[in-house]
Amino acid sequence: MFSYRHAFHAGNHADVLKHLTLVATLRHLMRKDNPLTLIDTHAGAGIYRLDSEAAQTSGEALAGIARVQHQGASNSGAKTAPRTVGSAQGAIKIEYDALADYLALLASFNRSAPPGAPWRVYPGSPLLMHALMTEPGRAAVHDRLRLFELHPTDAQALQAHIEQLDAGRQVSMARQDGFEALKALLPPPASGSGSRRALVLIDPSYEIKTDYAKVAAAIQDGLRRFATGVYLVWYPIIPRPEAHGLPRRLRTLAQQADRPWLHATLAIGSAPGATGLAASGMFVINPPHTLAGILRSALPRLEDALARGPHAGWSVDAGG
Ligand code: SAM
Repeated sequence: MFSYRHAFHAGNHADVLKHLTLVATLRHLMRKDNPLTLIDTHAGAGIYRLDSEAAQTSGEALAGIARVQHQGASNSGAKTAPRTVGSAQGAIKIEYDALADYLALLASFNRSAPPGAPWRVYPGSPLLMHALMTEPGRAAVHDRLRLFELHPTDAQALQAHIEQLDAGRQVSMARQDGFEALKALLPPPASGSGSRRALVLIDPSYEIKTDYAKVAAAIQDGLRRFATGVYLVWYPIIPRPEAHGLPRRLRTLAQQADRPWLHATLAIGSAPGATGLAASGMFVINPPHTLAGILRSALPRLEDALARGPHAGWSVDAGG
């Protein structure tokens, strides 16, 4: 059985990159009223306590979201102002600040915390997606959220968290292999107006190295079934050939399907005696056209907040 438990890692730098990208992508998709099918193939427990023994033992959230929260608070005057970044053609004004939006969303899960106190609750991808699909103005649209989690303890916790949402048929979860389950969900059902829209998050723990090949196979199959879906893949940047090869393989699959892609990475650098994951990436197929600019504005600020030593950095490449 798997030993990976996301409770030890919730709110770490990898979650910050993944969830910031997820929130920014969903915000763009939700500018249209047509319903969305949201699929999280590897959902985890849904929401986490940062004062739990697991989080305290690993210290990953302390080195992750706690530092971003602290920096966000000290920059709060600039949080919602439009930002400007340079480009070859001159300055581009970015009206939407994804980092401020992500932090505001996290703050909404921590309303009972005194102002300035470290957050105790960290929503995982299921609860973040649910929060966006039920925001005022969106609720009538009937988006659907489909969640899959294999670990018995996390599946049970996820089930309990979903029941508390009282979301009815809008949200469902199954203790099932997310790679297999995805096949039956694409293409997504058509809305009343005939449009089909889906966002798929594939976020395995990569505990077994065959996960890398399974991710590529799932994307290849997904693009064949539903070429216009928005696919987001998280992966760890570690010295393992399968991990190095995954973004290259995904880019090839996007190019073969003639679909646009985006690849973002965030590295927190090395520190004396530091162990654990130091960098990760997000690969997005069919990204919103605004996403590259939005991430190029947000990632330098994340690097500032999270860097722990040499080799910290970020990148955003896009093509297609
Ligand atoms: N997506 C979550 C988030 O952002 O909050 C975190 C997911 S965690 C990185 C990966 C999860 O996948 C673990 O909880 C693990 O138990 C689960 N898992 C592993 N293999 C799976 C599979 N084949 N299908 C579904 N879940 C799986």
